[in-house]
Amino acid sequence: MQAPAEAWSILNTADVVCSEAEVDAAITRVADALTERYRDKYPVVICVMNGAVFFCGKLLGQLRFPLTLDYLHATRYGPKTSGGKIDWHVLPHAEVIEGRDVVIVDDILDAGETLRAIREKILESGALSCTIAVLANKLTGQPKPLAADFVGLDIPDRFVFGCGLDVAGYWRNLAAIYAVKGK
Ligand code: IMP
Ligand code: MG
Repeated sequence: MQAPAEAWSILNTADVVCSEAEVDAAITRVADALTERYRDKYPVVICVMNGAVFFCGKLLGQLRFPLTLDYLHATRYGPKTSGGKIDWHVLPHAEVIEGRDVVIVDDILDAGETLRAIREKILESGALSCTIAVLANKLTGQPKPLAADFVGLDIPDRFVFGCGLDVAGYWRNLAAIYAVKGK
């Protein structure tokens, strides 16, 4: 298959919001904070597919405590303001998280509906505790239904991609965070 011209055109006109060095430094800060918090624990780290793969992968190598790695796959559809209908592709694995401390790792906290639903499901599944680590927190200027416990970067209220985040399915593979021109 040919590389889609659309993908290159989006990247070539985009603005860099956080450089690779800034992203890496942020991930190290989050890893250090998690290590501080979970030093003497044995949590389940849950990667929210697909967007968190980049962040979670880079984080894992810097976490200095024993952990269980698991994943779930949830996406939100419908208009942003609708309150969020969640499509569960893979539910949290209750048998893994029951009675455990859980760390949810996700790419971005935007309106917060997805993470609110994920955390609710994890607590319903019997987790002992549940914290949230995100690579980016979007400064939307709107109240959010929850705050992340560990935040890598605060970013402007624009449509961003790279570092696991996609734009029209493209560019999850970039090591910096970009914003779509004009958005
Ligand atoms: P929320 O429910 O609005 O917080 O939605 C969070 C999810 O929407 C994230 O996990 C991303 O998958 C996606 N998302 C939110 N903002 C962006 C963005 O700027 N670029 C790409 N994906 C985004
Ligand atoms: Mg996501």
